Amino acid sequence: MNLIFLGPPGAGKGTQASLLSKTLNIPQISTGDILRSAVRAGTPMGVRAKSFMDSGSLVPDEVVVGIVEERLQEADCSSGFILDGFPRTVAQADALDAMLVRLCKQIEHVLSMSVDDEELLTRISGRRMCEKCGKGYHTLFDPPKVAGICDLCGASLYQRDDDKIETMRKRLVEYYNKTAPLIDYYTEKKLLCTISGVGTIDEIQSNILRGLEGSLRDNS
Ligand code: AMP
Repeated sequence: MNLIFLGPPGAGKGTQASLLSKTLNIPQISTGDILRSAVRAGTPMGVRAKSFMDSGSLVPDEVVVGIVEERLQEADCSSGFILDGFPRTVAQADALDAMLVRLCKQIEHVLSMSVDDEELLTRISGRRMCEKCGKGYHTLFDPPKVAGICDLCGASLYQRDDDKIETMRKRLVEYYNKTAPLIDYYTEKKLLCTISGVGTIDEIQSNILRGLEGSLRDNS
């Protein structure tokens, strides 16, 4: 099954896509994760992307479209994939359509996760990450045993630059201006399935599986 997760930053796309990827045994393709590892590795693409990411802006379309086109041709995508954080603009969605035609694939569902802005800001501003092993925490919802220290490896926790409140506001503006139009785009293509992003991780995952029930039955 080929799926897209759509939603504002902090809606829980990454968490839900990761769980679903294990359940369906298909890869999760997160453009944010791919870009962050390119930044860490200091590749030319990472160097180009960093300033956009740090300021809360979207990375130029041609950079992310190239990443996704390469990734979709890898063997593990042959029985399906979950796009997490792509497309984020109408131009990216058009480019995706064109590349899927070339690859003889099609999207079956677009899962749009909705969460209100106040909740998003609370979620994002409390997010912390281990600087060594990358494990994620939340100061309110999933705090470490010792404040500021990773439970697993004892290294310090940090806040992603793009999770700081001012950058976060910028990311939300980018979302409403450039990504939210994709809700209509995929509604017109009759692919959109809206999922409330409020509730426990398990509740939301059950809602997603319920939304996909018909297709999972047809594919089995
Ligand atoms: P994420 O982890 O998905 O929230 O992405 C973090 C940052 O990576 C975003 O704020 C953008 O700067 C960049 N990014 C990720 N995916 C895309 C995309 N599809 N288009 C443009 N920029 C992206």
